[in-house]
Amino acid sequence: TKKLTGKVALVTGASRGIGAAIAKGLADDGASVAITYTSSPQKADEVVRAIEVTGGKVLAIRADSADAEAVNKAVAGTVKAFGRLDILVNNAGLFAMAPIDEFKIEDFDRLIAVNVKGVFLATQSAIRHMGEGGRIINIGSVNSDSMPFAGGSVYALTKGAVASFTRGLARDLGPRGITVNNIQPGPVDTDMNPADGAFAAQLKDLMAIKRYGHGNEIAALVSFLASPEAAFITGASIKIDGGFDA
Ligand code: NDP
Repeated sequence: TKKLTGKVALVTGASRGIGAAIAKGLADDGASVAITYTSSPQKADEVVRAIEVTGGKVLAIRADSADAEAVNKAVAGTVKAFGRLDILVNNAGLFAMAPIDEFKIEDFDRLIAVNVKGVFLATQSAIRHMGEGGRIINIGSVNSDSMPFAGGSVYALTKGAVASFTRGLARDLGPRGITVNNIQPGPVDTDMNPADGAFAAQLKDLMAIKRYGHGNEIAALVSFLASPEAAFITGASIKIDGGFDA
Protein backbone atom coordinates (compact mmCIF):
# COMPACT_ATOMS: atom_id res chain seq x y z
CA THR A 1 0.00 0.00 0.00
CA LYS A 2 1.04 3.56 -0.69
CA LYS A 3 1.45 6.14 2.07
CA LEU A 4 -1.94 7.82 1.46
CA THR A 5 -3.97 4.74 0.58
CA GLY A 6 -7.50 5.05 1.95
CA LYS A 7 -7.23 8.82 2.39
CA VAL A 8 -9.45 11.36 0.65
CA ALA A 9 -8.16 14.79 -0.37
CA LEU A 10 -9.76 17.99 -1.66
CA VAL A 11 -7.47 20.38 -3.53
CA THR A 12 -8.85 23.82 -4.39
CA GLY A 13 -7.84 25.48 -7.66
CA ALA A 14 -6.30 22.39 -9.20
CA SER A 15 -7.13 22.62 -12.90
CA ARG A 16 -3.73 24.14 -13.61
CA GLY A 17 -0.38 25.00 -12.07
CA ILE A 18 0.68 24.03 -8.57
CA GLY A 19 -2.77 22.70 -7.63
CA ALA A 20 -2.82 20.29 -10.57
CA ALA A 21 0.63 18.99 -9.58
CA ILE A 22 -0.52 18.59 -5.97
CA ALA A 23 -3.63 16.63 -7.02
CA LYS A 24 -1.51 14.30 -9.15
CA GLY A 25 1.03 13.85 -6.37
CA LEU A 26 -1.60 12.96 -3.77
CA ALA A 27 -3.22 10.51 -6.20
CA ASP A 28 0.19 8.95 -6.95
CA ASP A 29 0.55 8.35 -3.22
CA GLY A 30 -2.78 6.53 -3.12
CA ALA A 31 -5.31 9.18 -2.07
CA SER A 32 -8.66 9.67 -3.77
CA VAL A 33 -8.72 13.29 -4.90
CA ALA A 34 -11.38 15.92 -5.58
CA ILE A 35 -10.29 19.11 -7.32
CA THR A 36 -12.03 22.45 -7.78
CA TYR A 37 -11.70 25.02 -10.54
CA THR A 38 -13.58 28.07 -11.77
CA SER A 39 -13.04 28.86 -15.43
CA SER A 40 -11.04 26.00 -16.97
CA PRO A 41 -13.28 22.91 -17.25
CA GLN A 42 -11.12 21.46 -20.01
CA LYS A 43 -7.95 21.80 -17.98
CA ALA A 44 -9.72 20.23 -15.00
CA ASP A 45 -10.73 17.38 -17.27
CA GLU A 46 -7.11 16.86 -18.33
CA VAL A 47 -6.10 16.55 -14.68
CA VAL A 48 -8.91 14.04 -14.12
CA ARG A 49 -7.82 11.95 -17.10
CA ALA A 50 -4.13 12.08 -16.12
CA ILE A 51 -5.03 10.67 -12.70
CA GLU A 52 -7.49 8.12 -14.05
CA VAL A 53 -4.94 6.59 -16.46
CA THR A 54 -2.73 5.79 -13.47
CA GLY A 55 -5.67 4.02 -11.81
CA GLY A 56 -6.42 6.82 -9.36
CA LYS A 57 -9.84 7.94 -8.12
CA VAL A 58 -10.60 11.58 -8.93
CA LEU A 59 -13.45 14.04 -9.27
CA ALA A 60 -13.55 17.64 -10.57
CA ILE A 61 -16.06 20.14 -9.17
CA ARG A 62 -16.64 23.70 -10.35
CA ALA A 63 -16.51 25.88 -7.23
CA ASP A 64 -15.39 29.45 -6.78
CA SER A 65 -13.42 29.46 -3.54
CA ALA A 66 -14.95 32.82 -2.61
CA ASP A 67 -18.51 31.43 -2.77
CA ALA A 68 -19.54 29.81 0.52
CA GLU A 69 -22.37 27.79 -0.99
CA ALA A 70 -20.22 26.47 -3.84
CA VAL A 71 -17.47 25.51 -1.41
CA ASN A 72 -19.92 23.68 0.87
CA LYS A 73 -21.23 21.79 -2.15
CA ALA A 74 -17.69 20.85 -3.21
CA VAL A 75 -16.95 19.49 0.25
CA ALA A 76 -20.26 17.61 0.35
CA GLY A 77 -19.64 16.26 -3.16
CA THR A 78 -16.22 14.99 -2.13
CA VAL A 79 -17.61 13.20 0.92
CA LYS A 80 -20.52 11.78 -1.10
CA ALA A 81 -18.19 10.41 -3.79
CA PHE A 82 -15.42 9.06 -1.59
CA GLY A 83 -17.06 8.55 1.80
CA ARG A 84 -14.80 10.75 3.93
CA LEU A 85 -12.40 13.70 3.92
CA ASP A 86 -8.90 13.60 5.41
CA ILE A 87 -6.83 16.22 3.58
CA LEU A 88 -7.73 19.76 2.52
CA VAL A 89 -5.24 21.67 0.38
CA ASN A 90 -6.13 25.36 0.16
CA ASN A 91 -4.28 26.16 -3.04
CA ALA A 92 -6.64 28.40 -5.06
CA GLY A 93 -5.20 31.89 -5.19
CA LEU A 94 -4.95 35.02 -7.27
CA PHE A 95 -2.13 37.45 -7.90
CA ALA A 96 -2.47 41.14 -8.68
CA MET A 97 0.18 43.81 -8.74
CA ALA A 98 -0.10 47.60 -9.06
CA PRO A 99 1.41 50.68 -7.44
CA ILE A 100 -0.55 51.21 -4.22
CA ASP A 101 -1.87 54.59 -5.43
CA GLU A 102 -3.56 52.85 -8.35
CA PHE A 103 -4.52 49.53 -6.78
CA LYS A 104 -8.18 48.98 -7.66
CA ILE A 105 -10.57 48.44 -4.77
CA GLU A 106 -12.28 45.66 -6.78
CA ASP A 107 -8.93 43.88 -7.11
CA PHE A 108 -8.28 44.27 -3.38
CA ASP A 109 -11.70 42.78 -2.59
CA ARG A 110 -11.23 39.86 -5.00
CA LEU A 111 -7.77 39.00 -3.63
CA ILE A 112 -9.11 39.00 -0.08
CA ALA A 113 -12.16 36.99 -1.17
CA VAL A 114 -10.19 34.19 -2.82
CA ASN A 115 -6.82 34.16 -1.02
CA VAL A 116 -8.13 34.78 2.51
CA LYS A 117 -11.89 34.22 2.81
CA GLY A 118 -11.60 31.22 0.50
CA VAL A 119 -9.20 29.52 2.91
CA PHE A 120 -11.56 30.19 5.82
CA LEU A 121 -14.63 28.89 3.96
CA ALA A 122 -13.08 25.63 2.77
CA THR A 123 -11.51 25.00 6.16
CA GLN A 124 -14.72 25.58 8.10
CA SER A 125 -16.64 23.33 5.75
CA ALA A 126 -14.02 20.55 5.57
CA ILE A 127 -13.38 20.19 9.30
CA ARG A 128 -16.98 19.11 9.86
CA HIS A 129 -15.91 15.87 8.21
CA MET A 130 -12.36 15.54 9.51
CA GLY A 131 -11.23 13.55 12.50
CA GLU A 132 -7.98 12.38 14.09
CA GLY A 133 -5.26 12.38 11.42
CA GLY A 134 -6.87 15.21 9.44
CA ARG A 135 -4.62 17.54 7.48
CA ILE A 136 -5.06 21.12 6.33
CA ILE A 137 -2.31 22.37 4.06
CA ASN A 138 -2.41 25.97 2.90
CA ILE A 139 -0.45 27.32 -0.03
CA GLY A 140 0.78 30.70 1.10
CA SER A 141 3.83 32.37 -0.41
CA VAL A 142 7.37 33.42 0.44
CA ASN A 143 5.94 36.90 -0.23
CA SER A 144 4.36 36.69 3.19
CA ASP A 145 7.86 37.17 4.63
CA SER A 146 9.62 38.91 1.78
CA MET A 147 8.18 41.24 -0.86
CA PRO A 148 11.19 42.63 -2.66
CA PHE A 149 9.23 44.70 -5.21
CA ALA A 150 6.86 47.65 -5.14
CA GLY A 151 3.29 46.87 -6.17
CA GLY A 152 2.93 43.52 -4.39
CA SER A 153 1.74 44.77 -1.02
CA VAL A 154 -1.84 43.52 -1.28
CA TYR A 155 -0.78 40.05 -2.42
CA ALA A 156 1.74 39.96 0.46
CA LEU A 157 -1.05 41.02 2.84
CA THR A 158 -3.20 38.07 1.78
CA LYS A 159 -0.38 35.56 2.17
CA GLY A 160 0.54 37.05 5.55
CA ALA A 161 -3.07 36.45 6.56
CA VAL A 162 -2.75 32.81 5.48
CA ALA A 163 0.38 32.41 7.63
CA SER A 164 -1.23 33.84 10.77
CA PHE A 165 -4.52 32.01 10.16
CA THR A 166 -2.47 28.80 9.98
CA ARG A 167 -0.99 29.42 13.43
CA GLY A 168 -4.35 30.19 15.01
CA LEU A 169 -6.06 27.24 13.35
CA ALA A 170 -3.37 24.88 14.60
CA ARG A 171 -4.49 25.84 18.13
CA ASP A 172 -8.17 25.25 17.35
CA LEU A 173 -7.64 21.92 15.67
CA GLY A 174 -4.64 20.35 17.43
CA PRO A 175 -6.83 18.87 20.19
CA ARG A 176 -8.87 17.16 17.46
CA GLY A 177 -5.79 15.53 15.93
CA ILE A 178 -5.86 17.74 12.83
CA THR A 179 -2.66 19.48 11.76
CA VAL A 180 -2.58 22.80 9.89
CA ASN A 181 0.45 23.99 7.96
CA ASN A 182 1.39 26.65 5.43
CA ILE A 183 3.68 26.00 2.47
CA GLN A 184 5.39 29.15 1.21
CA PRO A 185 6.70 28.65 -2.31
CA GLY A 186 9.08 30.96 -4.11
CA PRO A 187 8.78 31.36 -7.89
CA VAL A 188 7.16 28.28 -9.43
CA ASP A 189 6.66 27.94 -13.19
CA THR A 190 2.90 28.29 -13.81
CA ASP A 191 0.50 30.50 -15.77
CA MET A 192 0.53 32.87 -12.79
CA ASN A 193 4.33 33.20 -12.87
CA PRO A 194 5.83 31.78 -16.06
CA ALA A 195 9.54 30.90 -15.99
CA ASP A 196 9.88 32.80 -19.27
CA GLY A 197 7.81 35.80 -18.13
CA ALA A 198 8.73 39.46 -17.83
CA PHE A 199 9.77 39.14 -14.15
CA ALA A 200 11.65 35.87 -14.38
CA ALA A 201 15.21 37.19 -14.70
CA GLN A 202 14.69 39.62 -11.81
CA LEU A 203 13.25 36.88 -9.60
CA LYS A 204 16.04 34.40 -10.38
CA ASP A 205 18.58 37.07 -9.45
CA LEU A 206 17.18 37.02 -5.89
CA MET A 207 17.46 33.26 -5.47
CA ALA A 208 20.23 31.02 -4.16
CA ILE A 209 19.17 28.32 -6.63
CA LYS A 210 18.83 30.29 -9.85
CA ARG A 211 15.85 28.61 -11.44
CA TYR A 212 12.09 28.39 -11.05
CA GLY A 213 10.58 25.65 -8.93
CA HIS A 214 8.32 23.01 -10.44
CA GLY A 215 4.84 22.12 -9.31
CA ASN A 216 5.91 18.57 -8.51
CA GLU A 217 8.49 19.90 -6.02
CA ILE A 218 5.69 21.65 -4.12
CA ALA A 219 3.53 18.54 -4.47
CA ALA A 220 6.20 16.38 -2.81
CA LEU A 221 6.11 18.62 0.28
CA VAL A 222 2.31 18.53 0.34
CA SER A 223 2.35 14.72 0.20
CA PHE A 224 4.80 14.59 3.08
CA LEU A 225 2.76 16.97 5.25
CA ALA A 226 -0.35 14.94 4.41
CA SER A 227 1.27 11.68 5.49
CA PRO A 228 1.12 10.05 8.94
CA GLU A 229 4.88 10.73 9.31
CA ALA A 230 4.18 14.48 9.58
CA ALA A 231 1.78 14.18 12.53
CA PHE A 232 3.95 16.33 14.84
CA ILE A 233 4.22 19.29 12.42
CA THR A 234 1.52 21.90 12.96
CA GLY A 235 1.19 25.67 12.83
CA ALA A 236 4.31 25.80 10.68
CA SER A 237 5.07 27.98 7.68
CA ILE A 238 7.58 26.13 5.54
CA LYS A 239 9.48 27.86 2.75
CA ILE A 240 10.23 26.04 -0.46
CA ASP A 241 11.72 28.90 -2.42
CA GLY A 242 15.16 28.10 -3.81
CA GLY A 243 16.60 30.45 -1.22
CA PHE A 244 14.56 33.45 -2.40
CA ASP A 245 14.37 34.63 1.23
CA ALA A 246 17.72 33.23 2.41
P1 NDP B 1 -2.31 29.57 -11.50
O1 NDP B 1 -2.90 30.92 -11.76
O2 NDP B 1 -1.35 29.02 -12.47
O3 NDP B 1 -3.49 28.51 -11.25
C1 NDP B 1 -4.51 28.87 -10.36
C2 NDP B 1 -5.47 27.73 -10.17
O4 NDP B 1 -6.42 28.14 -9.20
C3 NDP B 1 -6.24 27.36 -11.41
O5 NDP B 1 -6.48 25.99 -11.41
C4 NDP B 1 -7.53 28.17 -11.25
O6 NDP B 1 -8.67 27.58 -11.83
C5 NDP B 1 -7.71 28.11 -9.76
N1 NDP B 1 -8.49 29.21 -9.24
C6 NDP B 1 -8.29 30.54 -9.41
N2 NDP B 1 -9.23 31.25 -8.78
C7 NDP B 1 -10.06 30.34 -8.20
C8 NDP B 1 -11.23 30.45 -7.42
N3 NDP B 1 -11.75 31.64 -7.10
N4 NDP B 1 -11.83 29.32 -6.99
C9 NDP B 1 -11.33 28.11 -7.32
N5 NDP B 1 -10.22 27.95 -8.06
C10 NDP B 1 -9.59 29.05 -8.50
O7 NDP B 1 -1.63 29.71 -10.06
P2 NDP B 1 -0.40 28.89 -9.40
O8 NDP B 1 -0.55 27.46 -9.65
O9 NDP B 1 0.84 29.60 -9.76
O10 NDP B 1 -0.66 29.24 -7.86
C11 NDP B 1 -1.31 28.35 -6.96
C12 NDP B 1 -1.15 28.90 -5.54
O11 NDP B 1 0.23 29.01 -5.25
C13 NDP B 1 -1.76 30.28 -5.33
O12 NDP B 1 -2.34 30.35 -4.05
C14 NDP B 1 -0.55 31.19 -5.43
O13 NDP B 1 -0.75 32.40 -4.75
C15 NDP B 1 0.51 30.33 -4.81
N6 NDP B 1 1.89 30.67 -5.16
C16 NDP B 1 2.33 30.64 -6.46
C17 NDP B 1 3.64 30.94 -6.76
C18 NDP B 1 4.17 30.91 -8.16
O14 NDP B 1 5.30 31.41 -8.38
N7 NDP B 1 3.49 30.36 -9.14
C19 NDP B 1 4.60 31.31 -5.70
C20 NDP B 1 4.04 31.31 -4.38
C21 NDP B 1 2.73 31.00 -4.13
P3 NDP B 1 -9.17 27.93 -13.33
O15 NDP B 1 -8.21 27.20 -14.21
O16 NDP B 1 -10.54 27.40 -13.42
O17 NDP B 1 -9.07 29.39 -13.48
